[in-house]
Amino acid sequence: MSIKIQKNISLSKYTSFKIGGPAKYFCVAENVDEIQEALEFAGENKLKVFILGGGSNLLISDEGFDGLVIRIMNQELRIENNEIFIDSGLSLAKLVSESVKNNFTGLEWAAGIPGTVGGAIVNNAGAFGKCMGDVVENVEILNPPRPLCERGSCSVPPLKKGVRGISSLEIGKLNNKQCRFSYRNSIFKKEKKYIILSVALKLEKGNQEKSKEIITEILKSRKEKQLLEYPSAGSVFKNPVVDDDHLAKLKKEFPELIKIAKTNTIPAGWLIEQIDELKNKKIGGAMISEKHCNFIVNFNNAKAEDVIILISMIKQKVRSHFGIQLKEEIEYMGF
Ligand SMILES: Cc1cc2nc3c(=O)[nH]c(=O)nc-3n(C[C@H](O)[C@H](O)[C@H](O)COP(=O)(O)OP(=O)(O)OC[C@H]3O[C@@H](n4cnc5c(N)ncnc54)[C@H](O)[C@@H]3O)c2cc1C
Repeated sequence: MSIKIQKNISLSKYTSFKIGGPAKYFCVAENVDEIQEALEFAGENKLKVFILGGGSNLLISDEGFDGLVIRIMNQELRIENNEIFIDSGLSLAKLVSESVKNNFTGLEWAAGIPGTVGGAIVNNAGAFGKCMGDVVENVEILNPPRPLCERGSCSVPPLKKGVRGISSLEIGKLNNKQCRFSYRNSIFKKEKKYIILSVALKLEKGNQEKSKEIITEILKSRKEKQLLEYPSAGSVFKNPVVDDDHLAKLKKEFPELIKIAKTNTIPAGWLIEQIDELKNKKIGGAMISEKHCNFIVNFNNAKAEDVIILISMIKQKVRSHFGIQLKEEIEYMGF
């Protein structure tokens, strides 16, 4: 076996929240053969599997994960004409910088979003009205057979040795439509069995200097709006969509919303900000960010439980103040 399977590895250092208990087994996979080897190990030992990217959209339980965590670290990037082919383990930051270096435009909005390309596809990461789904041509996936999926983890049955001596896993491609991208959502959020191997993006040729200027502005605005000195997982909640009547009622009560909500989507951060009891609210080492109320930050060795309590408090207060049910953008793992 060429991959190193480690035991009892703390997951907190692999998440942007710096929260999370140990993985019973942990490995890093740098290519498809290593992913297959890891899955084979899981199959033989009847382990649940969790695929980890940059860990920047996850809240991992204090108990950790009683299975195998595979951290995807394949890193290749290839450019052909107007298409970029990128491995899923490459950081989004590297993808943005390489696209600009090669005079492409269409990914500037992604500057400053942490994590990997694979994670960005799963969450259909986006900002400033744009998202991954806008530029994806197709996604190459590994499809382990008959997994039992449960809350982000899959049990993989023992794999048969295939022609390449590893397994009989299937590699396939999903086109943009088949990925079912929608607001912070994709087929990969539901179909946890798919492992994203690589992605083909179609981008337009642009002006490098202009792209650099846009990126500088975006990074400046992120710095102003977000409290980056503390660990977090970015926006905790999706921005909710309300119907016309509800929106009209809210605009009457809060005239400033006329400027803020140009469509039926209301920023979750704005809703949280309106509730005095939630201002800088702390539970244990977790706190609602002062700069951006949709961020919960780990300011002092927070436990996952502290964050969970804050999340349920926010949901309950927003529901009773505004009649709006917030839904998480972050994903839970190991609960
Ligand atoms: C400071 C900060 C700012 C942020 N700003 C934004 C923002 O503006 N917009 C935005 O959309 N998000 C934002 N985020 C959230 C997060 O960075 C993105 O959602 C990111 O795309 C997640 O990628 P990741 O690699 O870290 O995924 P992870 O957190 O590691 O995983 C997320 C999900 O993807 C799955 N996954 C990861 N890789 C693969 C793979 N190869 N195959 C199959 N499944 C996989 C995991 O199993 C999990 O279900 C922010 C986060 C932080 C901390």
